[in-house]
Amino acid sequence: MDDDKAQPEQLPRRQFLKGGASLGAASLLAWFESRAGQGKESSGMKPHVAVIGAGAFGGWTALYLLRRGARVTLLDAWGPGNSRSSSGGETRVIRATYGREKIYTAMTVRALQLWQEHEARWPRSLRGRQPRFFHRTGVLWMARKDDAFLKDSVPHLREAGRDTETLDPAQAARRYPQINFEGIEWALLEKDAGYLTARLACEAVLEGFLAEGGDYRALSAEPAQFTGGKLSRLRLSDGSVLEADLFVFACGPWLPKIFPDVLGTLIRPTRQEIFFFGTPAGDARFSEENLPVWGDAGDPFMYGIPGNAHRGLKLADDTRGPDFDPTSGERTVSAEGLEAARRYLGFRFPALKGAPLLEARVCQYEGTPDSHFILDRHPQAQNLWLLGGGSGHGFKHGPALGELAAEIVLEKKTPEPLFQLGRFTS
Ligand SMILES: Cc1cc2nc3c(=O)[nH]c(=O)nc-3n(C[C@H](O)[C@H](O)[C@H](O)COP(=O)(O)OP(=O)(O)OC[C@H]3O[C@@H](n4cnc5c(N)ncnc54)[C@H](O)[C@@H]3O)c2cc1C
Repeated sequence: MDDDKAQPEQLPRRQFLKGGASLGAASLLAWFESRAGQGKESSGMKPHVAVIGAGAFGGWTALYLLRRGARVTLLDAWGPGNSRSSSGGETRVIRATYGREKIYTAMTVRALQLWQEHEARWPRSLRGRQPRFFHRTGVLWMARKDDAFLKDSVPHLREAGRDTETLDPAQAARRYPQINFEGIEWALLEKDAGYLTARLACEAVLEGFLAEGGDYRALSAEPAQFTGGKLSRLRLSDGSVLEADLFVFACGPWLPKIFPDVLGTLIRPTRQEIFFFGTPAGDARFSEENLPVWGDAGDPFMYGIPGNAHRGLKLADDTRGPDFDPTSGERTVSAEGLEAARRYLGFRFPALKGAPLLEARVCQYEGTPDSHFILDRHPQAQNLWLLGGGSGHGFKHGPALGELAAEIVLEKKTPEPLFQLGRFTS
C-alpha cells in the first residue's frame, strides 16, 4: 500500500463482523454435503467485484461470482498458473484423506464433483483439445503402525462413501511390485482419487470465465484508496485505477507482502523442490495405468505422481523449506535436495536407482500456522476479502472453495471460524 492514499480506518471488530446471516461451523460441513448434486445458481445482485489473482483460488472464485450474477473483473500480474504462482506446474494430488479434518474430506468430495462436471462442460475449450483435469489413479498411502492421521481418516472416508481399501505389506507388494514396502506396516488405497492437471486447469478456468462473460486483465493491482471502512479502488500496473464494490485478493504467496499488517506473519511462503525422474525405455510400471499417486507418511513425508504427459516420475519432499520470495526467488533446485530425492527414489523404487533427472521445479507453499485456509474480510475494510493460505493442499479445493467464497462474499455471510483471521488471535 502506498502513501498517497488514505490508510485503512479501524473499524470496530463488531461492526465489520455484522451484516448478513452466518454460515456457522456446524453448518459448513452440511453446506458442502448439500452441494453435492447441485448445479448453477443465480441471484439478482449485480455488484462489481474485482478478483485479484487468477490461480486455483481466485480463478474459481471469479467464475462462481459471475454465476451468482456479479459483474466480475479478474486481474493477474503474470497469468493463471504462471511459473511463479503456487498453482503453476503440471500436477496436483487430489485426495479426501484428511485425518480428523472431516471438513476437508467433504470439500474434496464437492470439489471432485465440480472438477469432473467442468471437465465435461468445457469439452473443447483449450485450443481445441479436450481438457482433462482429473486422472483417477488412486492414491496409495504408505503408513507406519501408529499413523494417527491415516487411522483417523478411515471412518471419515467410509462415511463420505469413498472407495478405500487397506492393505498389509504383502498384499501391497503383490499389487505394486515396483514399490519396495520395507518399513511400511500398512497401506491405505483411496481409489476415487488421483491427480489434477494444474496450469492447464487454471487456463481452462479463465477460458470458462471469459466465455461466461467475465472481464480479465493481465495487470498487477494494489489497494489504492480506503474510505469509510472500505476499499474503493485499485491502482493497476498500467497506471489506471479500477473501482469496484467488492474486492477479493486471492494472491497466494504474495498476500503477506500486499497486506503486511494483517497477513505478514500469518502466511509464510516456503521454497519447495520437485523432481521428475526418467523411467526405463518402454517400461510402463511407473506410468499412471500401473502406479497410483503415492504418499509415504514417514519422516520426511515424501510423495509422488506417476509421469503425466511423459514427464517421468514426479517426486517431492513435503517438509516446509526455507522462506521464499515468489517474485524474485531463483527457481533452481539444490544439490542436497536432488541427492536426497535420488536416495529416496532408489530405496522405494529400486528399478529407478540411478535414474536420470529429467526436469525439476521450485515452487512455494503459502503456509498458515495451522495449515487451514484464510477466507475473511480485511479487518479494516468490510468490502475487501482475503482468500489464500493454501498451505500445500489448496489446489484440489479450488472449485469448492470458489463456490463457497462467492456465496459468502455476495450474500454477506460470516465465513466458517476455521477460515477466519480471528482464529489466530482468540
Ligand atoms: C510444489 C507444490 C505442490 C503442491 N501440491 C499440492 C497437491 O498435491 N494438492 C493440492 O491440493 N495442493 C497442492 N499444493 C498447493 C496448491 O497448489 C496451492 O495451495 C494453490 O495452488 C494456491 O492457489 P492460489 O490461487 O491461492 O495462489 P496462486 O496460484 O499463487 O495464485 C495467485 C495469483 O495471484 C497473482 N498475483 C499476485 N500478486 C498480484 C497482484 N498484485 N496483482 C495481480 N495479480 C497478482 C499471481 O500471478 C498468481 O497467479 C501444492 C503447492 C506447491 C507449490
